[in-house]
Amino acid sequence: MRRGVSLQDISDGRLYRAEDWVRADAGGCQGCFFCCCHTARAIVLDPLDVARLTHGLRLSFEQLLQQYVELGVEEGLLLPHLRSEGREERCVFLNAEGRCAQHALRPGICRLFPLARYYDAQGLHYIIQKNECVKKNRKLIQVQTWIDMPQLAQYEHFVKQWHDFRIRAVQQAGGDLKGLNLYLLRVFYQTPWEEAAFYQQFAARLKQAEDDLGI
Ligand code: SF4
Ligand code: SF4
Repeated sequence: MRRGVSLQDISDGRLYRAEDWVRADAGGCQGCFFCCCHTARAIVLDPLDVARLTHGLRLSFEQLLQQYVELGVEEGLLLPHLRSEGREERCVFLNAEGRCAQHALRPGICRLFPLARYYDAQGLHYIIQKNECVKKNRKLIQVQTWIDMPQLAQYEHFVKQWHDFRIRAVQQAGGDLKGLNLYLLRVFYQTPWEEAAFYQQFAARLKQAEDDLGI
């Protein structure tokens, strides 16, 4: 969740879990592509997003950076996000018909919208953002159905680990964010991921990173 705003400011004030039902189903969006414009900088890619894009598009991370992705600063860290184009700042994957050309490979943040993630001491929750999706009368749908991510329990564990690790890494780095950024980019983005068993690979890299960074 963005800092400096309350839960009630941006949502219905409720926290949801994967098995809960929520009014998020935009019914195929029916020609709307509002949330695929002016948002690309906010679509920050995690290592799984990049693993799926590199395999799905048969590109290296460096090739992704040349065409579809750029680096931006997110809470002190240099992380990849999707590129945008034109005055409408259309996401680079938005096609001429206003549909996502890479729907099967879309990043985790796109899978959520109009949901978002919320972290607290109890773990990962979801919130429904108000004033973000322009479609009225959205239908009820189970959070896990809406996200449509295989191996959801493992995915949520990864999302929480990656979130917590970044916070601890920034705290540990103190002022040396340049060194941390170079390390994170190399270990979690530039070094290719094997196509199978992402979560096992991530666990091994995370353990190594915690050792290397002393966290
Ligand atoms: S990746 Fe697809 S769903 Fe996500 S912003 Fe781009 S066009 Fe929209
Ligand atoms: S704003 Fe809502 S209806 Fe429009 S594209 Fe996004 S999710 Fe679909």
